[in-house]
Amino acid sequence: MPMKPYKVLCLQSECKNLANFKIASRWSDGGVEELKTYALTCEKCLPAAFAQSFEKHKSCRTIPGEVLESPMIFELHTGRHSNQLVRRTDLEASFIS
Ligand SMILES: [Zn+2]
Repeated sequence: MPMKPYKVLCLQSECKNLANFKIASRWSDGGVEELKTYALTCEKCLPAAFAQSFEKHKSCRTIPGEVLESPMIFELHTGRHSNQLVRRTDLEASFIS
């Protein structure tokens, strides 16, 4: 039986598009560093998802020693590792006024 290709769907409600972008923040406790994912979204929902991600980001509490950077937009390519994500600072800048 052939394997179905791995697909990531947009997580915005009532949206059935495939996700093209990932919104995530870099989190670190000084030693371990990881990406905290806020949203997976299609291009159409990206502005709304980015705004929601900032709201979620604001409600995240960090303890002393922890660093949580502002949400970033990455192109989502299935089958790639997260350290190969392409960041889209141009899109981020267009949503931050
Ligand atoms: Zn969508």
